[in-house]
Amino acid sequence: MSLDNKPVYTGGCQCGAVRFRVEGALTNASVCHCRMCQKASGNFYLPLATAPEDGLTWTRGEPKRWRSSNHVKRGFCAECGTPLTFEAPDGTALAIGAFDHPEEVAPTVQWGVEAKLPYVDSIPSLPGETTEGDMESAPYLESLENYQHPDHDTDEWPPLDRGGRG
Ligand SMILES: [Zn+2]
Ligand SMILES: [Zn+2]
Repeated sequence: MSLDNKPVYTGGCQCGAVRFRVEGALTNASVCHCRMCQKASGNFYLPLATAPEDGLTWTRGEPKRWRSSNHVKRGFCAECGTPLTFEAPDGTALAIGAFDHPEEVAPTVQWGVEAKLPYVDSIPSLPGETTEGDMESAPYLESLENYQHPDHDTDEWPPLDRGGRG
């Protein structure tokens, strides 16, 4: 919460070159199954939530945009490729997975269901494993160093001990 009691959300891309801050309530939290959102996210569907007008600030860098139609631009990090925005004449929506706390932004509607992939609804019934659950098949995980930006704002990125700035 900010001083005037508005909700505040932060987030950004995987590499940390682009960071955003939202002040005010998000609306239209959704997933879109349309073919364009599948392509833009490289995924089965694209989860998006609309930022309040004038409530969105780019606090580090800014997305590169690609015009996917005459009305819409899609923003992404030019360094790491993380999909970040869907920018239409009626507002800018942010990719829910890019928020620092995506668990706070639950979708309430599905769009583009005519293009829903046939296996999407059966994913929750697939067998599940934790990341560490199968070290034998991925032994490199033991020595994994994570270069992903953490889920909070940072003063310096990448950190100095990783060769950033100097
Ligand atoms: Zn990035
Ligand atoms: Zn879509």
